[in-house]
Amino acid sequence: MTDFKLLINGRLVPGASTMDVLNPATEEVVAACPTASEAQLNEAVAAAKAAFPAWSKRPLKERAELLNKLAAAMMARQEEFARLLTQEQGKPLPMAMWEVGGTAAGLQYFASLDLPEKVIKDDADSKIIMQHAPLGVVAAITPWNFPLILLSIKVGPGLLAGNTMICKPAPTTPLTTLLFGELCAEIFPPGVINVIADKNDLGAAITAHPDIAKVAFTGSTATGKKVMASAASSLKRITLELGGNDAAIVLDDVDPKEVAPKIFGGATMNSGQVCLAIKRVYAPQSMYDELCDELAKLANEAVMGDGLEQGTQLGPIQNKMQYEKVKEFIEDGRKNGKIIAGGDLPEGKGYFIPPTIVRDIPHDARLVREEQFGPVLPILAYTDLDQAIAEANDSEYGLGGTVWTNDLDRGKEVASQIMSGTIWVNKHLDLPFDVPFGGAKQSGLGVEYGQEGLEEFTQQKTINMAKDPL
Ligand code: NAD
Repeated sequence: MTDFKLLINGRLVPGASTMDVLNPATEEVVAACPTASEAQLNEAVAAAKAAFPAWSKRPLKERAELLNKLAAAMMARQEEFARLLTQEQGKPLPMAMWEVGGTAAGLQYFASLDLPEKVIKDDADSKIIMQHAPLGVVAAITPWNFPLILLSIKVGPGLLAGNTMICKPAPTTPLTTLLFGELCAEIFPPGVINVIADKNDLGAAITAHPDIAKVAFTGSTATGKKVMASAASSLKRITLELGGNDAAIVLDDVDPKEVAPKIFGGATMNSGQVCLAIKRVYAPQSMYDELCDELAKLANEAVMGDGLEQGTQLGPIQNKMQYEKVKEFIEDGRKNGKIIAGGDLPEGKGYFIPPTIVRDIPHDARLVREEQFGPVLPILAYTDLDQAIAEANDSEYGLGGTVWTNDLDRGKEVASQIMSGTIWVNKHLDLPFDVPFGGAKQSGLGVEYGQEGLEEFTQQKTINMAKDPL
């Protein structure tokens, strides 16, 4: 067990109190985590504010070098990070290794970008230049499903743009973020990046803080609304990456056997705890039975267990609260539809939910309407494709979605009609760092990734100069 510390003003310090972090596969304590008081949060914000003038004036190339150094330091301890991630989050170790590698790659990607000024007008009267200025102190608030990668796509652009930062992980997965902070302590000047943990009690103080200029938030839509309301008090900049209820629309020209493993993987990766997971499937009536049977077969064959054990495909649900919620979705599936695989919970320790396939369920069932965020997948039959598209769009969410077809033109046509930020045709979860990504409707505000994601961490600033000296 490592001795975890907060990072405030360049120093690794104990918290005002501690809390136990549990391994969701065993319900045993992974480590005691220090948690910050509001006074410590204020100290961190003051340190970030004090560090801002020097950091923002430092050449962008030097800031990029330090981000690359952080990426290299993470990769040097990739396995340690990954094991800790599996222990606190539950995901299979190979996926944890992938997440740590992706976190470093995300930092490197942003370190490769630039924020050049742009001449908008240069004529006889004036020269008008557009610059991207940093905002000041930025808070990164992250959820428990991908604690590291979602952190890197905030820290990378935030620091590169010249901001200083406060990072706050979810209370059930703070340890890898604190380890990340430990590396930052060696690399960045004091105050440039601060890492605190809380008992789910400091979010409101962060979003209301007068000295924080922007909140980069990933989490649920319900909390995102609170962030937006609170940010209004000081007109903070916000990016909100929120929940989703992504539909997979299967067209009538595919082979159900071929498409089933792709849909199953998209619905159950990270035990369904992915914002962009496939959360409901619309299949043509003509192949409905066959597709349901294929998905049920895959669910029955899937290996669920402790993420540290070799061969585990599905780890546990990350925390007790979410586990209880997913159990309710299973009950809804049982009541309103027909469970054809899974549904029965294993005895013993750990928050395990077997992959569960539910068929013959109506569009208005809770499992179809809400975000289950777990491996419980409803399959709906359609006879009219327009009706399936309308049902896919009949949601407050608009994060992602997929279309499966052997006719790419048709695929594009259907994709164009889905009201979401991202829609894939014949693939899923392909998220290149250089492609901006964000939610439509109540799935978010603003984008992450790409040059556009970097610019979200800046203030667009115009310098309008007369051509003649006075
Ligand atoms: P959550 O909203 O409960 O918590 C997210 C973070 O917000 C945590 O760090 C939490 O401590 C903090 N928080 C709690 N109250 C707050 C407040 N009043 N003000 C500010 N911060 C506060 O979300 P979760 O349950 O940890 O994560 C799951 C959700 O995240 C799902 O809905 C999922 O779809 C979504 N998600 C979205 C994306 C995306 O990119 N769109 C990515 C991953 C997860």
